[in-house]
Amino acid sequence: MKISFHGADRNVTGSCHLVECAGKKILIDCGLYQGGRELTEENADAFGFEASEIDYLLLTHAHLDHCGRIPLLVKRGFKGEIITTAATVELARLVMLDSAGLQEEEARYQLRKAQRRGHKAKNTEPLYTTLDALNSLEFIGRRVHYDEAIELTKGVRATFINAGHILGSASILLELEEKGRQHRLLFSGDLGYSGRAILRNPTSPPEVDTVVMETTYGDRLHKQLAPSIDELYDAINITIGRGGNVIIPTFALERAQEILYYLRQGVESNRLEHYTNVFLDSPMAISATQIFERHPECYNTETLKISHHGGDVFDLPGLHFTRETAESMSINKVDGGALIMAGSGMCTGGRVRHHLKYNLWRNKCSVVFVGYAAQGTLARRIVDGARQVKIFGEEIPVRASIYTIGGFSAHADQAELLSWHQLTGTPQRTFLVHGEEKSMQSFAKKLKNTQIEMPVLHQVFEL
Ligand SMILES: [Zn+2]
Repeated sequence: MKISFHGADRNVTGSCHLVECAGKKILIDCGLYQGGRELTEENADAFGFEASEIDYLLLTHAHLDHCGRIPLLVKRGFKGEIITTAATVELARLVMLDSAGLQEEEARYQLRKAQRRGHKAKNTEPLYTTLDALNSLEFIGRRVHYDEAIELTKGVRATFINAGHILGSASILLELEEKGRQHRLLFSGDLGYSGRAILRNPTSPPEVDTVVMETTYGDRLHKQLAPSIDELYDAINITIGRGGNVIIPTFALERAQEILYYLRQGVESNRLEHYTNVFLDSPMAISATQIFERHPECYNTETLKISHHGGDVFDLPGLHFTRETAESMSINKVDGGALIMAGSGMCTGGRVRHHLKYNLWRNKCSVVFVGYAAQGTLARRIVDGARQVKIFGEEIPVRASIYTIGGFSAHADQAELLSWHQLTGTPQRTFLVHGEEKSMQSFAKKLKNTQIEMPVLHQVFEL
């Protein structure tokens, strides 16, 4: 029995772990590295194993840093079975196709840049194409239900456990047996926490021998949800009240649906004071919302109640889904009283940049950030208080009110990670992955009675 680590080693992206037992090779996630250029280039490196030798790929959830290298895995010869929950299948399809489109676009851009400079183009082949992504969907096999063990082969059973992180997300328990020796191995996947909108609370993990766990927020506690929702309503009431527009740069998956849900609640409880036209101006977020509507099996009781009573969980008065570019452009004519949710969340691309160009310089408007803004992004520059920013080559003064609301995280914080770990009993060993080293070190200090490992890329351990 062996485990090896091929991504998310002392960083938060590129999750990919390999388990070998009973003559089978089982991969847990195959995610994309995201971030700076160096990390992006690492995506094209060798996996550290033969893609064609992998028998099963178990996918914890549909975020790009967990599923984004699957088309590459298939391109390099994977012929096994991809197993995950029904909701993750649909979301991962959307995420992988979107990623392929971006890879193709980036390759075209690099080619044009090289040609302009009279250089011979190198490295301009996309990591994978839309066709590769479509082809990889052919390998999706069983859709599993939470808490139902499935046998992969004699000696390997897998159970997906609700992780409460995004729709369809799971921790994965592997019950392994080789040469008469049994071992229980648990992968946390990305962990959410109790009391979120829409999603059921995460299920308590079982007691196991070995844990592989994420440590994204291993060193900090996040803000409470309730005051964050209050802040959101205040920002909207103030801005719409003075005749401005509210721009919310939005991550298409989960955050967009959560915000729609809170808006609906705000209207129903009269905490949102004004009638507002709400535009979900992101084709990907619209598709993701439709996928959410098809998977009530992931809803919590409150959300189920709404849908059982015939209500539409993601609908509210004045809501418009704008898929077409022409519809999107017509929003720019709205002088006030509109709430516009558009991607990308960090304003690095997408339609939100047009809306910022039209609204950022007007002091009656607001921009509300509800997610993480990485260093070097337009979102971060605005959050950090830039007086003017460059958008489509034009200097735009920042006169709108800027709100940064920190309490909408999809990840468990240090306290929640710790109580999750305590529920796994007293595992002999705990592998920390999916976190910056600082975060891992800080979390490691909190763990007692378990041997802690922080694997580096391609490191192999006997189980
Ligand atoms: Zn995730």
